Amino acid sequence: MKIETIAIHAGRGIDPGSGAVTPPLVTSTTFERAPDGSFPHGYIYTRSGNPNRDALEQCMATLEGGADAVAFSSGSAATAGIFQTLSPGDHVIVSDDMYYGTRAILREMFEPWGLQWSAADLSSPNDLRRSIRPTTRLVWIESPSNPRLKIADIESIAAIAHDAGALCACDNTWGTPALQRPLELGADLSIHSTTKYLGGHSDLLGGCAVVAEPGALADRLRTIQGVGGAVPAPFDCWLLLRGISTLPYRMAAHSDNAMQIARFLREHPRVSAVHYPGLPDHPGHSIAARQMKRFGGMLSFQVDGGRTEAMAVAARVQLFTRATSLGGVESLVEHRASVEGSDSPTPENLLRLSVGLEHADDLIADLNQALG
Ligand SMILES: *Cc1c(COP(=O)(O)O)cnc(C)c1O
Repeated sequence: MKIETIAIHAGRGIDPGSGAVTPPLVTSTTFERAPDGSFPHGYIYTRSGNPNRDALEQCMATLEGGADAVAFSSGSAATAGIFQTLSPGDHVIVSDDMYYGTRAILREMFEPWGLQWSAADLSSPNDLRRSIRPTTRLVWIESPSNPRLKIADIESIAAIAHDAGALCACDNTWGTPALQRPLELGADLSIHSTTKYLGGHSDLLGGCAVVAEPGALADRLRTIQGVGGAVPAPFDCWLLLRGISTLPYRMAAHSDNAMQIARFLREHPRVSAVHYPGLPDHPGHSIAARQMKRFGGMLSFQVDGGRTEAMAVAARVQLFTRATSLGGVESLVEHRASVEGSDSPTPENLLRLSVGLEHADDLIADLNQALG
């Protein structure tokens, strides 16, 4: 079936108890044993399993074309869960432009625990080859990357990782399965902050790791989820499933709006650079065109000048909201270097946009007045 159909039907069914068309929300933390001591419905305690979480995981696995999906309480918990499948002494390669929180997880949690890691320019397969060590066990792609929208060729990177005996994981938060399916391109794992486009309405926190194959990795993640306990609340799973129903349509509209804004910004005399893979002169455009259905709703641009000029533009927007995060229906603008802290490689004159679902003309008018 096509993605629009999967997004509405996977993981759903009529509730046998009530005939409800929309799934009931199960908030009970505990489930009754039968007189013989068994659990006839398969649920024992909500940390190890819950009907709303099961439905979400089934839907996510189907959307990504994976064997299994493991939901977590946040994208960061899903990311940490994957690093927890590794052992001290193992080496991880990450993208040199990526969500700063993933770098923070490695630095703050896993370095002290003995995991080695280094960054490479994953838009260059040769740079990746040079970074591989005998202990490399995982290559972590983020494409498009945050905040500079660099594109990695998922198929080539996964092949290089596999040749080196490493797994390939792809943070697919920005692409979403509506635009990009990393498992079909050879990645072993597709990871999401479901807080973003999958939820789609800036009202829940969640994460998910989808595995390509059944087996030891899926089992290990399931253990980390249930034993570690970083699980999403049933209501957040319920909200997520509801948000996912409209994902393919939202992603098409986010992408159309972002493309129009990228074209506008490119022509603006106060803008020195626009980073959007949908623009034909973006260095990753042809790869993105091959591995993505559309180019997504995220873009960044550099204001002519420095930090002061960029902050002044952000201060003047009326319709965009100055806020972090992304993927909701409302448009957001953010000065990324401020959020990322002192070790951030992000240029000081860069503003990141999460382009929402307002009319593109209104968004462009707002940016036009803010740029002055
Ligand atoms: C937000 C984000 C995360 C972290 O997810 P949380 O749900 O905030 O923990 C990871 N990767 C990317 C690309 C993100 O945008």
